[in-house]
Amino acid sequence: MTGPVLNHLGKTWLELGPARTAERDGPWRAARDPHGILWLALDVEGAAANTISREVLEGLDRQLDAITQDPPKGVVIRSAKPGGFAVGADIAMFRDLKDADDVKAMLEQGHAVLDRLEALDCPTVCIVHGQALGGGFEIALACDRILAVDGASFGFPEVKLGLHPGLGGTFRLTGRIDPIEAMTLMLTGKTAHTRKAETLGIVEAVVEERHVEAAARDAITGDRKQDGPGLKDRAMTLSVARSLAARKMRSAVEDRAPRDHYPAPHALIRLWEAHGGERKAMQEAEIASFAELVTSETSRNLVRVFFLQQALKKDGDGEDGIAHVHVVGAGTMGGEIAAWCALKGKYVTLSDPDREALGGAIQRANDICKDQHLSGIETRDALDRLMPDPDELGIPRADLVIEAGPEDAEIKRKIYAEIEPRMSSTATLTTNSSSLSITDLAKNLERPRRFAGLHFFNPVSKMQLLEVVSHDSLDGTVSDRLAAFCGAIGRLPARVGDYPGYLVNRALTPYLLEAIQLIEEGHEKETIDHAAEAFGMPMGPVELADQIGLDICLHVAESLKSGLDKPMVDIPGWLSEKVENGEAGRKSGRGFYEWKDGKAQKGNVLKMDAVDEITDRLILPLLDACVECLRKGVARDSDQVDGAMIFGTGFAPFRGGPMHYAKSRGFDDVVARLNEMAESHGERFRPDPGWQDMN
Ligand code: NAD
Repeated sequence: MTGPVLNHLGKTWLELGPARTAERDGPWRAARDPHGILWLALDVEGAAANTISREVLEGLDRQLDAITQDPPKGVVIRSAKPGGFAVGADIAMFRDLKDADDVKAMLEQGHAVLDRLEALDCPTVCIVHGQALGGGFEIALACDRILAVDGASFGFPEVKLGLHPGLGGTFRLTGRIDPIEAMTLMLTGKTAHTRKAETLGIVEAVVEERHVEAAARDAITGDRKQDGPGLKDRAMTLSVARSLAARKMRSAVEDRAPRDHYPAPHALIRLWEAHGGERKAMQEAEIASFAELVTSETSRNLVRVFFLQQALKKDGDGEDGIAHVHVVGAGTMGGEIAAWCALKGKYVTLSDPDREALGGAIQRANDICKDQHLSGIETRDALDRLMPDPDELGIPRADLVIEAGPEDAEIKRKIYAEIEPRMSSTATLTTNSSSLSITDLAKNLERPRRFAGLHFFNPVSKMQLLEVVSHDSLDGTVSDRLAAFCGAIGRLPARVGDYPGYLVNRALTPYLLEAIQLIEEGHEKETIDHAAEAFGMPMGPVELADQIGLDICLHVAESLKSGLDKPMVDIPGWLSEKVENGEAGRKSGRGFYEWKDGKAQKGNVLKMDAVDEITDRLILPLLDACVECLRKGVARDSDQVDGAMIFGTGFAPFRGGPMHYAKSRGFDDVVARLNEMAESHGERFRPDPGWQDMN
C-alpha cells in the first residue's frame, strides 16, 4: 500500500480521530478523543496541499496555549490533506520579506512556536503520509516521535531556493540522526523515502493507514525509544572531527554548487562546523544565516525560478482527455517518451520497423522505473501499460500519436501518409522533431488543425520542459489539450511558435556554434567549457555538443542556417569529417573529448586570460536569439523564455533566466557589448532590433 486508504464510499480516508469533524481554527482542526489524546489536523483552507505559513505557526501557537491550560494525555499531529503532510514553506512569503531584520523577526517567532511544541510535557507524535518537506518536516521534527504511513517521504528542498532549513531543521535533524546523513540530506535537497527514512532514524515506525489510530495511541502511551547518541554522533561533537567532515562536504558541494553562485550549502556547512551539537548556538546561527540568504540575489533569483516553473505548470492545467498514446519510433527519444507516458499512467503502444529497438525500449523503461524509485507493483503496472506494437494496431485507438522517427522531413511525411488515415478523426498527431518546420510538415496532412510539434528534450525522464509547437492552422483546443497532456505527464509546457529551432534550440545553437568557432580559432576546449561553467551553465558547450551528438548538432545547425535571416558561424569542414570518421561525441566514445564510463576525459584548464571574453561570446548571442524569438512572437514573454531556457537547457538558474540576466546586467550594456563583438568578430553578433523594445 502506498498512501491513504479508501473508505467504504471510495473516498480517501485518513485517520484523524475526532479532529475530522472538529471546527477549523485557522489552518488547524483540533479535538480530543475518549483517551484524552488531542488530535491536531493541519488543513490549510482552500489549498490542495498544506504549506507552512505565518498563519500555520500562529494557529499552532494558539493550540499550544490551549494545551498548556488543559494538558492532554498526548498530542497527535497529522495532515488532513489526502496528498500528504506539507510541501514546505509558503514560498510567496519569501518574496514579501523586505530585509534581513524583517526575516529574523519572523523566524524568531516561528522558532518560539516549535520550541514550545518540543518542550510540551506530554508526548507528541507526528504521523506523516505523502511528503513532509521543508517547514512541514520541521514541524514533524519538533515532535517526540514520527510515524510514517508507507509512501511517506521527508526532505529539505531549501537548497534549491538558495536557502537551508530555517525553522530549526539544521539542529533538530543533525541532533536526531547521524549528523553526516542529516547534512547530506540538507545539502542535496533530496528526499528520503519511507524505508530510507526509517533506516536513517527519522521515522520510528511505518504503519498502515488503517492502524494509525492504534499506533498513535501506543506511541503516546509507550516508552520513547531512547537510543542515545551513537559513536559517530558523539565524535561529531568534537570540533576537529566536524572540521574534517566539513572539509569533505565542502569539496563535494563545490563541484555541484560553487560558493560564488550558490552560497546556501556553504553557509550550512559553516554553521554546522562552527556550532554542531550546540543546539542554542546553532539555532541562533541558523536564523542569522537564513535571514542573510533569503535576502540575497541568488535566493531571490531561485525563488523567481520557482514561480517561473509554477507559471509554466499553470499553462498545463486542465483535462487532456488522452488515455491512449501511440509512439512511432522506438529510438533514443521514442523509447523514453513511451516509457515516461506509461509511467505517468497513460496506456501506450509503441511501434518501430526495427524490432530490436522495441526490445531496447522496454529495457530502458525498466531502468527509468528504477531511477524514479517506483515500487515493484508500480513498475509492473507501468510496464503493463507499455505495449510493443510492431503492427501498429494501437493507431486507430490512440488519442494522441507522437512521431519520433528519424529527423528527415521525407521519412516523416511518409510516416504520416501511412498513419494519419488510420487515426481516429478526433485524435492528435504530433512530431518530436527538434528542428523541422511544423508548418511544412503540416502541409498535405488531411487534418493539419490536429497536428503540432511536441518537442521533448533528452533525456526525457530528466528534462522538465516540453515545447508545444504551433503553426498557423493549429486548432486552439488541440494546443490546450497538448499543454494539458504535458501537465498530465508531469512536464512543463512551453507553447511556442514554429520557427527554426523553435525557442530553445534556436537560442542554444549560437552558444554551441560559437564554441566550435572558438576551437577553430585555437582556444582550448577545456577553457571554453570552464568559461560557461563559471558563468553558471550546468555543462560547457563543448561537452554539451558531445552529449547531444555532433551529427545532431550539425543537422540542427544546417537546418537553422537555411531558415534564419541572420548570419551564423561558418561550420568548419573538419566537423563533418569528424562525424564521418565516427567521432560523433559521447555515443561513439569520442567527439571533442574522449568519453569513458559516461564521462568526458577533460584536461586541466591552461589558459584563463580569455575567460571573460569567451563567456560573452558564448552567452550574449544566446540572449540575442531569445530577444529575436520575442520579437518574432515565437515566445509569449520574457518570463516564458526564462522558464523554458532554465527547464529546457539548465541555463544558470541562480541568474533567474537569460532575459532576467540581461536585465540585471543592463540591456544597454548587453547591446553595446554585442555591437563591439560584431565589429571585432563578425555580423553574427549584431544585436537584434528587438532589444529596442526591452525595458
Ligand atoms: P533515433 O535514430 O535514435 O530513433 C529513430 C527511430 O525511428 C529508430 O529506432 C528507427 O528504427 C525508427 N524508424 C526509422 N524509420 C521509421 C519509420 N519509417 N517508421 C517508424 N520508425 C522508424 O533518433 P532519436 O534521437 O530518437 O530522434 C527521433 C526524433 O526525435 C527526431 O525527430 C529527432 O530530431 C528528435 N529529437 C531528438 C533528440 C535527441 O537528443 N536525440 C532530442 C529531441 C528531439
